[in-house]
Amino acid sequence: MAAPLSHPQIENGWFMEKSTMWPGQAMSLKVEEILHIEKSQFQDVLVFQSANYGNVLVLDGVIQATERDEFSYQEMITHLAMNSHPNPKKVLVIGGGDGGVLREVVKHECLEEATLVDIDEAVPRVSKKYLPNMAIGFQHPKVKVHIGDGFAFLKDKINQYDVIITDSSDPDGPAESLFGADFFHLLKAALTEKGVFSTQGECMWLHLPLIRKVKDFCKALYPQVEYAYTSIPTYPSGQIGHIICSKDAESNLRQPLRKWTPEQEDKMLRYYNSEVHKAAFILPQFAKKALYE
Ligand code: SAM
Repeated sequence: MAAPLSHPQIENGWFMEKSTMWPGQAMSLKVEEILHIEKSQFQDVLVFQSANYGNVLVLDGVIQATERDEFSYQEMITHLAMNSHPNPKKVLVIGGGDGGVLREVVKHECLEEATLVDIDEAVPRVSKKYLPNMAIGFQHPKVKVHIGDGFAFLKDKINQYDVIITDSSDPDGPAESLFGADFFHLLKAALTEKGVFSTQGECMWLHLPLIRKVKDFCKALYPQVEYAYTSIPTYPSGQIGHIICSKDAESNLRQPLRKWTPEQEDKMLRYYNSEVHKAAFILPQFAKKALYE
């Protein structure tokens, strides 16, 4: 009988998400069973079955997705961008190796091709095995997967993608190359004329100065830049943001350019809808002041 798996962040049956990125606080989840531990070529990979959030994927000690609430983040980072483009045919996902964003992208009939670039083959492999309802995105015929660094992948891509979604892990680790000025310039060049870009935009309770810095930097590159947010229990402070940018000066990111019918929304979605799209950009006073004044 193999010895039960153990992990430094799991003590007395609880996983604790301590990090210097959110000092003095830590999300804890009750652990039923540790399912997978691996040191991949790029990061520490942990999967455990939680008591109340299904299976949980953790990379370098940071919760990436849980079966119970991942739909919130995946739907919002995807549809806020996709429904801000008139006719997104070619889409690029950088990161997103858990497959959730792909699952959402392929819901758009107009899509012709979605390419995912993730640096670590371990993440799709582990996600398919332990979070299959999220990783279902990999099975779609319109999807192509490239294992490699998102920064290097962009170097020879000009005017190719209608929407680019950067769903990367946090800056300290393999995603460091996805947070520099060069990356943002390459990404803009890879977008088509009315291209839309969305990226994980951190948490207004924790990272307002960083969000302002990224937003102001994007404002120098795109005529339209907005910050929206979603509620998600297992991300730090229960909230995560999205920075949405458009190369189309006439666009209004706060209003969906395209929308499904209420019946379609009811059938296909669990968090996003055309009203939530608009509401996501309405910020509490402290965040509005910090990000827009
Ligand atoms: N939704 C999560 C979040 O907001 O924290 C992110 C999910 S996804 C698992 C993050 C992915 O980014 C991982 O699969 C990781 O391998 C990938 N990644 C990190 N650095 C990368 C890079 N330089 N190029 C491509 N993918 C990268």
